[in-house]
Amino acid sequence: MSGGAEQGFATTAIHAGQQPDPLTGAVVPPIYQTSTFTQLGVETLKNGYEYSRGGNPTRNGFETQLAALEGGSDAFAFASGIAAEDALLRCVLKPGHTVVAAAESYGGTHRLLTHIYARWGVRTVFVDPHDTTELEQALSTDRSAKLLWLETPTNPLLTVVDIAEWSAIAKAHGALTVVDNTFASPALQTPLSLGVDAVVHSTTKYIGGHSDVLGGAVVVADTEWEGRPLAEAVGFQQFAGGAVAGPQDSFLAARGLKTLGVRIRQHCANAAVVADWLTEHSAVQDVYYPGLESHSTHQIAAKQMSGFGGLVTFRVPGGEAAARKVAESTELFGLSVSLGGVESLISHPATMTHGSTQGTPQAPPRDIVRLSVGIEDSEDLLKDLDRALSAL
Ligand SMILES: *Cc1c(COP(=O)(O)O)cnc(C)c1O
Repeated sequence: MSGGAEQGFATTAIHAGQQPDPLTGAVVPPIYQTSTFTQLGVETLKNGYEYSRGGNPTRNGFETQLAALEGGSDAFAFASGIAAEDALLRCVLKPGHTVVAAAESYGGTHRLLTHIYARWGVRTVFVDPHDTTELEQALSTDRSAKLLWLETPTNPLLTVVDIAEWSAIAKAHGALTVVDNTFASPALQTPLSLGVDAVVHSTTKYIGGHSDVLGGAVVVADTEWEGRPLAEAVGFQQFAGGAVAGPQDSFLAARGLKTLGVRIRQHCANAAVVADWLTEHSAVQDVYYPGLESHSTHQIAAKQMSGFGGLVTFRVPGGEAAARKVAESTELFGLSVSLGGVESLISHPATMTHGSTQGTPQAPPRDIVRLSVGIEDSEDLLKDLDRALSAL
């Protein structure tokens, strides 16, 4: 597993930014449930704290923990993944700029770019994530292309994009690269170490890990943008825009992050069992899992990731109706959007997570089902899937 330079991933996850409370020795740092801080004088703050939108020790502890795991210079925690994406986009873009985005991105990101940013004069061009031809073309024909947006593995087909190759091309054209690292998490890949300028997360997913909190984060490399450190720009946007993570949410995200390493190992192991089993099942047509040698981008995944993740997508022969029926027939796998929690979930992406892409070229196939494989006992998960597939 990847992680901070001096210590292993699990050690960093448990200790970075999470020192015992200096006042009492409490092993778990307290939740600073406060909006504001009393000052020593009108211009003298205690340890730099003034108002919780600008800084809060619980949030800052989580930010330190996550920055260490992603190998970034700084991290900034937000109220949701989408709020984190929005903050980063506002820092980097101006009206007239273009975003080049690998297709198959999260439906909410697609909605933010095409429904909100389009109205503010920012154009988005989607390119095929399978090769760099369209990327090269988009960047070389449009001098206003300032940002490459990657998500890898993609959602929901789990295509793996070569981060080092794509970000080098963007850099050569003067564009920043951001990777949405929600699906892999820093336990499986650290995009900043591959040349990327910023990482965004929905911490709602694997980082929180228990489906009990919404959150997001931006983690930046030691990069400059328009003559200013990117960290400074994102920090200012977080304070001035205000979509910050609250203390309770930061506490839950930090607590989840401490166990990410062991959870991810089990997610990956269970997903591999489920993917292999689905491949053999007569009621299943195609299985998309980066760990399968049959997956279109297996080689890149094997090189880039230290595990293949907990998401498995598959296609059923009976079309959309059959896919919906399977999604509605499981018992342990809850019919739900979201992913990355300890409990297994099932969804029909075309109508659920990607409903906002309907009718666009970015809409996913309608006959696929997506699984977020949890960390239950894998035999029980297979029995549940078998029951649902037998009902077809
Ligand atoms: C869920 C998700 C988001 C959005 O995060 P929220 O916390 O729901 O705002 C962004 N990217 C990916 C890949 C996601 O799965």
